[in-house]
Amino acid sequence: MVCCNQFNEGKEILYPREQIIEEYYQKALEDGIDPSQFRIIEKGNDIKDAQLLTVFHRFLHFVRDRDLLFEHGILILANREGKVLELAHPSDFPDFFQKGDSECFDWSLEAIGPNAIGLTAKKGISTFVNGSEHYHHLLKNYQSTSVPISDSSKQMIGILGFLSTRNYKAQALGCLQGILVAFELAYLEHEKFVVLEREAKKRDALFDMTQKLYSTMDVNEILSEAIHTFQLFYPEVQIELWLTQEYLVSNLPIKQLMFIPNREDINGQAFLEGKLILRRRKQNEKNGEIAAPLRGKQGVYGVIHISYDQIDTFTEEEISFISNIADIIGMAFEKAKLYQQSNHLVKELRAINELTKRLNQSLTLDTILQIVISELTKLYDAQHVSVLKVSEKKDCLTVIASNINSNVGMIVSLDSGYMGHVYQNKEPIIVSDIQANQQIVDPYMQGLGCRSLMSVPILSNDEMIGVLSVSNSKPLHFSYDDFKMLQHFAQHLGLVLTNAFLHEKLQKVAITDYLTGLYNRSFLDSKMQESQKNDELGSLILFDIDDFKKINDTFGHQIGDQILIQFANILEGSIRSTDIASRWGGEEIALYLPQIDTDIALQIGKRILKRVGQETSPKITASAGIATWKQGDKDLSVISLVRHADQALYAAKHKGKNQVIVYPA
Ligand code: GH3
Ligand code: MG
Ligand code: MG
Repeated sequence: MVCCNQFNEGKEILYPREQIIEEYYQKALEDGIDPSQFRIIEKGNDIKDAQLLTVFHRFLHFVRDRDLLFEHGILILANREGKVLELAHPSDFPDFFQKGDSECFDWSLEAIGPNAIGLTAKKGISTFVNGSEHYHHLLKNYQSTSVPISDSSKQMIGILGFLSTRNYKAQALGCLQGILVAFELAYLEHEKFVVLEREAKKRDALFDMTQKLYSTMDVNEILSEAIHTFQLFYPEVQIELWLTQEYLVSNLPIKQLMFIPNREDINGQAFLEGKLILRRRKQNEKNGEIAAPLRGKQGVYGVIHISYDQIDTFTEEEISFISNIADIIGMAFEKAKLYQQSNHLVKELRAINELTKRLNQSLTLDTILQIVISELTKLYDAQHVSVLKVSEKKDCLTVIASNINSNVGMIVSLDSGYMGHVYQNKEPIIVSDIQANQQIVDPYMQGLGCRSLMSVPILSNDEMIGVLSVSNSKPLHFSYDDFKMLQHFAQHLGLVLTNAFLHEKLQKVAITDYLTGLYNRSFLDSKMQESQKNDELGSLILFDIDDFKKINDTFGHQIGDQILIQFANILEGSIRSTDIASRWGGEEIALYLPQIDTDIALQIGKRILKRVGQETSPKITASAGIATWKQGDKDLSVISLVRHADQALYAAKHKGKNQVIVYPA
């Protein structure tokens, strides 16, 4: 604790606070005063008291003729309520005030009876009280004089008092007035200084904030720094951040901006109008709210809402200051958001390019579809990814790939649901919540438990060949960037799939007979070889149309061709998917049946001949020869199997045609 060292010729006298209090109490008891009357209050517990004190100390330091001033009295500084903040007097001044020069007392009229300071506090005017009028016996030897101290706006901010041993009212008052003028000048200087200091502090804090905001790309960090800065500038206000849904970030006291038209909602208004809005509550000007939009170059991202209770209204400068801070935050926020977005975009783009490269390297349709499904599932954290192909007749969509195996082969209508919508409009769609969307009913998607969906057309030379769909069970899962990226990918996929479909077609052509659509002989050869390697047994049936020359001669070659096609269709409708029917020669057709023994082959052969006899038009008949092989046969080879079947066929012709003969005949 520092006493007024100025009055002790530069010597500092230090008192521990507790000791001083103790001494006061002792002294008071000795003097027969109730100690509770000397209520000691915290010095400078109020910002304004502290400022008064600062000015008082500075003032005392610079005042001239100090010694003369203090020769006969004590200079007192009290706050506007009359609480004494400081006493200044010469070091050898008698009685207990000497020790109390740094402590504070309650000099109110209620506490110690009539005295000038208490009266000035009550009435706000200069006062003089004679010693004899003081109730308090310690004050009996002093006259008290006091004047109110005003600040630049003529508000009373404190009291200057003087306790003197001499009873010259006019002199005391005159002297105190003089001191007051000097004190008020000092206070004015101080006020200016405080403003400058506050401005400088604000500037520093603003600079600090700007630096921090622009040095980070973390949206969370920016927002918490924003809240922190506001609290630093305006500790006595409540601050809230309101952001639109897509920018909500965790672990900060952020609220979601809603746009329900409402005149009361100043946040929504500030957001929509993009300008600061100030509203004072009518009954009390010291109580109001401010909503400042967080603006960037490309839009408004949210609002800072300030509500205050006990603030003398915000000045214009302060409001424009708040608006500036909000702008800085808005710009920093935008920059961080754009950075995050572009980072995300670059990542996705890289993944898509990588994926496209892999797809371009693989030719078979199966591999391509496998890669597409597994990579898109990962990339979009999707629950369901599917590729659908437009059917040859363009009357439905078929699921050709899906991460849910049982969906493959499923037929989807072109007239309903989201896929139908994409097909009909040839436009991609993104749905943020399927459950909330009333316009399109899609039981298939709902059955899968999907809430978010992106569905884009797959095009090949402007023709729609399929649809690519990605979905997730949470709503709002996909961003607009995800959507753009998927469209970008679907363009590549269109090319890749066109090539793959073409490749598949070519491969099929290479093993297919152009007229009948059956496999060709070389394909059958290779399959029979494979079968003899892997299976236990197998049967070959060779068919030859009876008297085909005549048919050609009678009806012409074209009808002959038609009959060949009819024959092929009958065959294809009579066999399992593992059996292989092929055009062997001109009007000879071979049917290879893996794992089928002679008896069953005979039944099959007869059944086919029967159907041929009934279903062809013009009617024809055919003959057939059957040969069977099994593991362990002496001359196990495709050549001997064919030779045997041929011999059986020859026998069938020989025996009158329209029959099946088993080798050996
Ligand atoms: P058979 O009962 O002994 O088999 O008498 P066939 O007249 O059928 O005699 P063969 O099997 O030797 O005759 C083959 C004929 O089949 C020759 C040709 O006119 C006809 N032919 C072969 N390939 C085709 C074809 O692609 N289209 C048509 N329309 N006729 C074909
Ligand atoms: Mg023939
Ligand atoms: Mg023939």
